[in-house]
Amino acid sequence: MDSGRIVPGNASGSGAARPAGVRNREPGMETPFNAWFECFSGCGARRSLEDIVYRCPNCGGLLEVRHDTGALARVPAGEWKARIASRALTDGGVWSMRELVLPAIEEGNIVSLGEGNTPLIASPRMAERLGVADIRIKQCGTSHTGSFKDLGMTVLVSMVHRIRDRIRAVACASTGDTSAALSAYCAAAGIPSIVFLPRGKVSKAQLIQPISNGALTLSLDTDFDGCMEIVRQVTADGSIYLANSLNSLRVEGQKTISIELLRQMDWTAPDYVVAPGGNLGNISAIGNGFVLARDLGLVDRVPRLVCAQTERANPLYRSYLDGFARMDPVTARETLATAIRIGNPVSFPKAIRALRATDGIVAQVSEAELADAAAFGDRFGFFNDPQTGVALAAARKLVAEGRIPSASRVVIVSTAHGLKFSDFKLRVHEGRVPASEPALRNLPVEVAADIDRVRAVLDGKLPA
Ligand SMILES: *Cc1c(COP(=O)(O)O)cnc(C)c1O
Ligand SMILES: [Zn+2]
Repeated sequence: MDSGRIVPGNASGSGAARPAGVRNREPGMETPFNAWFECFSGCGARRSLEDIVYRCPNCGGLLEVRHDTGALARVPAGEWKARIASRALTDGGVWSMRELVLPAIEEGNIVSLGEGNTPLIASPRMAERLGVADIRIKQCGTSHTGSFKDLGMTVLVSMVHRIRDRIRAVACASTGDTSAALSAYCAAAGIPSIVFLPRGKVSKAQLIQPISNGALTLSLDTDFDGCMEIVRQVTADGSIYLANSLNSLRVEGQKTISIELLRQMDWTAPDYVVAPGGNLGNISAIGNGFVLARDLGLVDRVPRLVCAQTERANPLYRSYLDGFARMDPVTARETLATAIRIGNPVSFPKAIRALRATDGIVAQVSEAELADAAAFGDRFGFFNDPQTGVALAAARKLVAEGRIPSASRVVIVSTAHGLKFSDFKLRVHEGRVPASEPALRNLPVEVAADIDRVRAVLDGKLPA
């Protein structure tokens, strides 16, 4: 594949000559771009992305993936736009921006299942009902395993593929979607995977994916935070590679959500981007994506990020109320939004930096609000999972309170496909979820197979 190909009509502002060296797809050609692990606490420690290391070897703090932004910024913005647009269909959403994500990976080590390139769908009808100028849903769940975790996992498993002679297996703790993505990408590459799930706290659709993909699946009698503690110990000696977002390589691919949606909006920034937050890797990655896009001149400003949490697992919201002065964990309580039931988020400080960098907001919503918002969104042709329900509910609330002004352009990051959460959706329609809007419920009408009875139902239900 020739990555330098420019698709006619798609190359917005790409008059500049292609700089030599960016064409790192050709074998034998060294990429001029560099990325490495660096201490997030600022002690200056650096390690190679090939090293099996999750915390700073100096101070024990978090690591993050850093890029040589100066070298990236020497490529004209128009060139990046043309390059990303021209590769998007053939290389997928993540690898169309490979220099911004994992510049040194060889073509032969990339493990891809066609992730990214997910639709950004505008809903003028929903915007009108909400009282906001423009609302679009970024459908990250329209992806191989049904959630945005694929964007992160393609990058992580590609690195594992490169260093596979040094590891026995890859492991993760999961609220469901991480294990689905890990097991699929590992199966694609022929690498053993191990997943730790909190027993009875993931949906059937989420459990069946790692099982089907042949992962060693351990069901533990604890919650996500308990599974995380076990997986930390299992991966401590480096022989089993950690696929949770404590490993900062896991979220690097997720920043492409931001750059991809900017491309879909013709390189203009929306005013607000709303995403649900649990372990807070995704909101951090989304923030990084927007900041990078601005630093490379792809857009002239960043949108304001909104992180939406359920009030049953709201450590970031509590910290926000306190001006981010503290980062106290909470004990996550039972919630319909099972994928964000996390009380002690790994990426807490990174999320705070992302929110500060984008003048962000944190909102919390109740169980009834998230259930109603998910069902409300479905009435405009979507099919929302409960986590997206949290984001939609937060957006609804902020618009109603005037904190998102009515002239705004808003993007909701939908994190998973609703089909993964059909139990939740059925419960809403059966009225088994507390205090949901009864008008949004819709159950099958049981009627005899008789034309007169059927006509009577139609006459009763349809407008004349
Ligand atoms: C993982 C996940 C989230 C939360 O992402 P974090 O990075 O943990 O904050 C939200 N929604 C869905 C569907 C997820 O799978
Ligand atoms: Zn350090």
